[in-house]
Amino acid sequence: MSPALPTGGPTRGRAIDGKAAAAALREKVAEAAREFSRKALRKPGLHVVLVGEDPASSVYVGAKEKALNAAGMTGAVHRLPTDTSEGDLLGLVRKLNSDPAVDGILVQLPLPSHLDEAKVLDTIDPAKDVDGFHVVNAGKLAVGKDALVPCTPAGCIRLLKAERGDLSGLHAVVIGRSNIVGKPMAQLLLAENATVTIAHSRTRNLPELAKTADILVAAVGRPEMVKGDWVKEGATVIDVGINRLPPAEEGGKGKLVGDVAYDEAAKHAAAITPVPGGVGPMTIAMLLANTLAAAHAREGFEAPSL
Ligand code: NAD
Repeated sequence: MSPALPTGGPTRGRAIDGKAAAAALREKVAEAAREFSRKALRKPGLHVVLVGEDPASSVYVGAKEKALNAAGMTGAVHRLPTDTSEGDLLGLVRKLNSDPAVDGILVQLPLPSHLDEAKVLDTIDPAKDVDGFHVVNAGKLAVGKDALVPCTPAGCIRLLKAERGDLSGLHAVVIGRSNIVGKPMAQLLLAENATVTIAHSRTRNLPELAKTADILVAAVGRPEMVKGDWVKEGATVIDVGINRLPPAEEGGKGKLVGDVAYDEAAKHAAAITPVPGGVGPMTIAMLLANTLAAAHAREGFEAPSL
């Protein structure tokens, strides 16, 4: 009897290095920002508005401030007290809208509950809306016009294209339909000619559906919801989720995990983004890229290729 052939069991997928990809993009942005400053005789300007003292938001805003200085941009963080009135906040946004030195305006979400997020976002000049949340930018993205695109899905697409090259005809399943991640992610995948399915909390047979995906994007906010047996062999998995597990011990900080059970999923995927170190670092890099794009558009310069 001849010996049994090796069965070639599942191999471990490669971790997609979002940190390295983000560092490479930030370097390109910094070079293009220097070139912009030479031509426009000013630096690209990004202004961030933070209302209140949400600890996670403060950390994100601090990271954005550091990144914008490192990229050779200028700007400021406007820290407003929690009880800021809607009138005062809208007044600041309008002031930034009309300031010629300001290319990008980002109002950090979530806002305290007495403030109307939609109203605040709609007040930002769409040409300066570097978060890409204004309805004008969402609409442009939906009809395939040049738009400022939300940073997180834009970062995911960049990782995917670096990973898979042409996405044309691949089946992408996006789990999550938020305006910030899921919907723009689906639009961007469509623009790359992928076949796109959007799944959400009412989707039936989600594990079976996910298993048909060549590209599986999880943007849900549920720790390790996507299990290994939801992942097709050889798929590319993009985990957008950032979830902090309860602290293991009193006073300890809970572990950070994504929406995908990484170790299980990596046994089936060809490549997968880890949490942390995958999608997260790309978000700030794309914010800088959007600020640079907005600055070029406002000066009438050709968009830099990044
Ligand atoms: P959201 O709460 O606005 O949307 C979650 C989506 O998940 C909803 O559309 C909902 O329909 C869907 N959903 C909920 N439960 C589900 C279930 N059981 N099955 C299938 N779908 C379900 O969240 P969001 O703003 O889109 O963010 C999603 C995750 O991504 C969060 O963990 C968030 O922290 C993270 N995030 C990360 C970055 C980053 O920079 N890496 C940026 C934004 C958001």
